[in-house]
Amino acid sequence: MQPSIHRPTVIQIDRDALRNNYLQARQLAGSEKRIFAVVKADAYHHGAVVVAQILHELQVDGFCVATIDEALELRTAGITEQILVLGLIPVQQAPLAAQNDISVAVGDLTWLQTAAFTVRSPLKVHLALDTGMGRIGFREKSALVEACQFLKTQPQLIPEGIFTHFATADELSDDYFQQQLAQFEFLIQDLPITFENVHCANSATSLWHRQAPGNLIRLGIGLYGLNPAGSHSKQLPYSLQPALSLTSQIVAIKQLPAGQSISYGATYTTEQPEIIATVPLGYADGWQRRMTGSKVLVDGHLCPIVGRICMDQLMIKVPKFYPLGTLVTFIGQQNQQTLSADVAADYGQTINYEILCNLSDRIPRKYIN
Ligand SMILES: *Cc1c(COP(=O)(O)O)cnc(C)c1O
Repeated sequence: MQPSIHRPTVIQIDRDALRNNYLQARQLAGSEKRIFAVVKADAYHHGAVVVAQILHELQVDGFCVATIDEALELRTAGITEQILVLGLIPVQQAPLAAQNDISVAVGDLTWLQTAAFTVRSPLKVHLALDTGMGRIGFREKSALVEACQFLKTQPQLIPEGIFTHFATADELSDDYFQQQLAQFEFLIQDLPITFENVHCANSATSLWHRQAPGNLIRLGIGLYGLNPAGSHSKQLPYSLQPALSLTSQIVAIKQLPAGQSISYGATYTTEQPEIIATVPLGYADGWQRRMTGSKVLVDGHLCPIVGRICMDQLMIKVPKFYPLGTLVTFIGQQNQQTLSADVAADYGQTINYEILCNLSDRIPRKYIN
């Protein structure tokens, strides 16, 4: 989709915030751990190629993505670091991954056996272990050992890594995390081959479970400056700097008498004379209809969205007349006030990750610093 660059709705990304978040994670991790920046879903909508280039300058060790196409996008842009696809790829795509030096997650022996027949160049694999996420990977030690024995006989398949993923690393209660950790330790013990990279840490694990085993961190949400635990947050070992802000402008403003309805369904009716401003952002931009009633910042005031959010526009109630072009902040800072993605997430009963991922390519991105 072409971004609508002539409309005053923009996402601004602060490169310094990304650098700072990465360097803080780097310092906390210590020199013996590698960091792979997770840039899946277009770097949580921050722009995968730009984010990868910034981190390349800071000598990041590699990148994680979700699909082979996301990996190819980085290769096409000239990114030469290791790239790991975290999701399973169809085995027919194994040669494509090998040709482009893209590492892949593998969760069963059959996949390895089929790939071994078809690849003409070495393919780097990371065995996924399902220790309690119930998503992908080997669950049984016997099946894992069998896969390792097969890898041992296949010079074209390089055992680059072995990993798992935690379901509750961001939660206050530790029990399920400890169960998964114990299962991971049991599974990786005494295998017939060794893996260059052993990894289990997402952002939450890197922040709150630093003793977790492994030599590699998959840093996602923390890189973008958001707390993996959201606003129900646990104490952070360093402060995170949100990199993304979302702003628009007032494009129409009027005073309405009492008794006038606003937007589809006429669900909101003015109770008194009210000043209503229109903002060119809607659910097609990722600001979902369920955000009706949530607040945005105008001139440092929190102003509610009134009436249903339309596809491309929404209306807000403001305390006084403002000139057309007045800034409206959905995510970010204005005067001394901050609206974080967590505020939106709590209102929309979701998580900050989803608020970012919902943002549409229709909104142009502007990079600063
Ligand atoms: C998305 C993902 C991550 C990154 O998680 P964050 O919580 O954003 O740090 C790490 N590992 C896997 C397997 C993932 O799918």
